[in-house]
Amino acid sequence: MQSTKPTVDSLFMNQSQQGMEAFQTALHTSIDSLLTEWKKGKGPYSGILPGKLADSVESLFQFQPSGEAIESVFQDVKDHLLPHLVNVSHPKCLAHLHCPPLIPALAAEVIVSSFNQSMDSFDQSGIASLVEERILKWLCEKFSYGDMADGTFTSGGTQSNYMGLLLARDSFCENTWQWNVQKKGLPREAHRMRILCSKNAHFTVKKSASQLGLGEDAVVLVETDEHHRMNITDLKQKLADLQADQLLPFAIVATCGTTDFGSIDPVSDIYDVAKKYGIWIHADAAYGGALVLSHAYRDKLAGIELADSITVDFHKQFYQPISCGAFLLKDKRHFGLIDYHADYLNPKEDEIEGILHLVNKSVQTTRRFDALKLLLSLRLIGEEGFGDIIDHTIRLANDVASLIDQHDDLEVINQKPEINAVVFRFIDDKRANEINKSIHRTLFQTGSAVVAKTVVNGHTCLKFTLLNPRTTINHIEEILSDIVDIGIAHIQSGRVLN
Ligand SMILES: *Cc1c(COP(=O)(O)O)cnc(C)c1O
Repeated sequence: MQSTKPTVDSLFMNQSQQGMEAFQTALHTSIDSLLTEWKKGKGPYSGILPGKLADSVESLFQFQPSGEAIESVFQDVKDHLLPHLVNVSHPKCLAHLHCPPLIPALAAEVIVSSFNQSMDSFDQSGIASLVEERILKWLCEKFSYGDMADGTFTSGGTQSNYMGLLLARDSFCENTWQWNVQKKGLPREAHRMRILCSKNAHFTVKKSASQLGLGEDAVVLVETDEHHRMNITDLKQKLADLQADQLLPFAIVATCGTTDFGSIDPVSDIYDVAKKYGIWIHADAAYGGALVLSHAYRDKLAGIELADSITVDFHKQFYQPISCGAFLLKDKRHFGLIDYHADYLNPKEDEIEGILHLVNKSVQTTRRFDALKLLLSLRLIGEEGFGDIIDHTIRLANDVASLIDQHDDLEVINQKPEINAVVFRFIDDKRANEINKSIHRTLFQTGSAVVAKTVVNGHTCLKFTLLNPRTTINHIEEILSDIVDIGIAHIQSGRVLN
């Protein structure tokens, strides 16, 4: 244990020899502990459930009155923390839209956190504000979004979807009743306002509706077609029904990459239907947005440029460490609907002088310089390199679907995956749901693979989300073999019990 308290110079970034050495030692120790964990060559999770982790947590909470040497702290990190984290970079970690982070982005994180710029005002960010603006311009161009487009970085898809619906709501109230929601709150007619999205849209559409004072019941669910995309005939019907009931549809959320199947709603068709009603279209491309960099599959996003706003997540198929996302707006003037000026932060006179305060476009105030991670990743890999990775994972998903299709004990639900999610299940006449649940649990508890579980038409299914380009068909064969073994063992033990 350390006998003297650490000096201030060894605790904060500074130009002294002691400060620099302390920073390097801290980073090295941290990286070393990570590599030690990797070298053990384990599965993606220890398999330990929450009830058995309490002792490990307590071991981490041994505070010494005057602190400890870094080696001693990281010994506990190595012993009690790292073994029980879910290893998202492991090729058999395939559950959620939860990506392995790119190494260049991890290096960028060191700079982002060390300089700790805050994106709300220019005097807390300097060039960082301009870099964020520039990468948003690049992004708007990638989405063919036109000269009036702009955007902001967000904490992720939840916040981006919230912003889309917030601006849609306020813009509708302004246009319909010359009503300023920002100043006066919701108008009396607000209970008639409706949002449409497909049955497979993300739950944050409903969550946003509730937070926006419209209530979850304001969300009208449109039926989907056989590919789990929004059914346009039903959309027309629902709009006609709403009109007949004197209700006010003001926004349609088109999902570009649904969570289960990666399905992409036909944005052009939705636009053709919605245009005459003046309805705001928000494209939730949290998952599918990465296809803008694809060589072979960019066309799947055709029409997304017609949407009034777009959600895109970088902490999914752009391989950025959490958090990193963006909200794009086709007509940047709509950002005025959430504009606030604080004398201490972003006074109006600065705007006249052309000083950039990005807080004007965000629902957050203090905000991270996440744009740097994406910039350095793009520099290091190149747009083409990104496209190669994305295309590779989509091709892998198609190969995996064919492989599952050949298994007698398994059924693949989406034979041609739209992006890189493959949904399937173990088949059994009597107890399929129970068996699939058991397979999911057993894989997690043995730590051999982390896969997802979902429900499709009442059937419990398993899901691979194949984001990791290091996952190979061999890894998948091994997991499938484990799945079949567990399924068969479950049937046999059931026979014994019965
Ligand atoms: C992930 C996801 C979200 C939520 O985004 P977060 O980044 O988790 O906040 C919303 N919509 C879709 C389609 C998603 O895939």
